[in-house]
Amino acid sequence: MGQFYEQVKERLIRYAKINTRSENGTGRTPSTACQLDLARVLRDELTAIGVSDVWLDEEKCVVYGKIPDNTGMPAAATDSLPAGACNEPAGLSPQHSPRPLGFVTHMDTAPDASGENVKPWVLENYDGGDIVLNQEQGIIMRAADYANLQQYIGQDLVLTDGTTLLGGDDKAGIAAVMTMAEHLCSHPEIKHGLIALAFTPDEEVGGLAKDLDLGRFGSPTAYTLDGDHLGWYQDETFNASAAEVTIRGISVHTGTAKGIMKNAVDIAGEFMAALPAYEKPQYTEGREGFFHMVSCEAQCERAVLKLIIRDHDAVQFAIREAYLQKVVDGINRRYGEGTAVLVITAQYRSMKEVIDTVPYMIDDLKAAISACGIEPKTEPFRGGTDGSALSHRGLPAPNLSAGYENAHGRFEYVPVQSMEKNVEILLELVRICAGIQ
Ligand SMILES: [Zn+2]
Repeated sequence: MGQFYEQVKERLIRYAKINTRSENGTGRTPSTACQLDLARVLRDELTAIGVSDVWLDEEKCVVYGKIPDNTGMPAAATDSLPAGACNEPAGLSPQHSPRPLGFVTHMDTAPDASGENVKPWVLENYDGGDIVLNQEQGIIMRAADYANLQQYIGQDLVLTDGTTLLGGDDKAGIAAVMTMAEHLCSHPEIKHGLIALAFTPDEEVGGLAKDLDLGRFGSPTAYTLDGDHLGWYQDETFNASAAEVTIRGISVHTGTAKGIMKNAVDIAGEFMAALPAYEKPQYTEGREGFFHMVSCEAQCERAVLKLIIRDHDAVQFAIREAYLQKVVDGINRRYGEGTAVLVITAQYRSMKEVIDTVPYMIDDLKAAISACGIEPKTEPFRGGTDGSALSHRGLPAPNLSAGYENAHGRFEYVPVQSMEKNVEILLELVRICAGIQ
């Protein structure tokens, strides 16, 4: 049992019991008021640990804290960082020593499964077999269905009772960050640069950490701690936009429709048929992009089609957006100007182009993971993270796994040993960034 075992386990279990499920389309910030319950717990805990500048923005539900530089060396200038939005990447020179560090983790859990009345429990020394999550209701996690279980034989798994998610996404990340903070505050002899912490709401509903005040946060770079599989990290995400096509038809009595009717249902079908048949989520992987039809509501008079566009490559992404316009233009040529209207809404952009300006962030991260005896692994993330948006707001923010598995569902679990390792990785990162050998 490592030195952080009890702390990370206790924290995850305590945080998991607090319902922080976010919700789509509430139009509120945060999307659900219950997220403030955890925010207040984290604020009080940061204060008790001895973290400085602890502040909870009650309105936006963002918790901030700092562990000041204790090296006595001149730090990299962070006061030039403007409060709020800025477009330029921080461009911090790698020669600066010590380098400020930031960590951002999200407090909400996915709306996909219930987050109410979560009953976490620990299965010690997992034997590789099926796991009975709920005797009463006969809910069993079968080893044959979840191959990822095999790598955790002999470890201790935090599990659910099979009726809710666990919320290790992202409370396993919060537990690791908080335990790192506690360790640094209680060991002032460990020298480090500025360490900025933030806990944010609504990641699971596309919040993109939009209310994180970069000036208050105070570090020009950050790592998010989110994602599954210990030792994985991400420095590339999708470029993403949403598109809506509205088609105006002309409805007439079917008996006298000849030459007059324009059936929006048929035209919607033409639009969908023009999309590349095999560039869909179900046929793509790796760095292959896609179009995904989200919904199609169609009647003769009017049709509304909603879809999303994804591509890692910025050029291919632009070509995809342009292709939709080309299809819509074709429909308008055939059925008359104004028949189809396309509206594209930007969602997020890949963090890659920003992270490439701060390559030392990835070098440091890989070095920290390796130093803890784990092989760092990555692949382009087929989604977006809060870090995608933060990077483009001027806070380069690659992602390190929080170590959970089977997120967003009732079979979610977190090996305690993965969280312990993450604390070690974070402390190693702190050591590397302090620039002290
Ligand atoms: Zn997450």
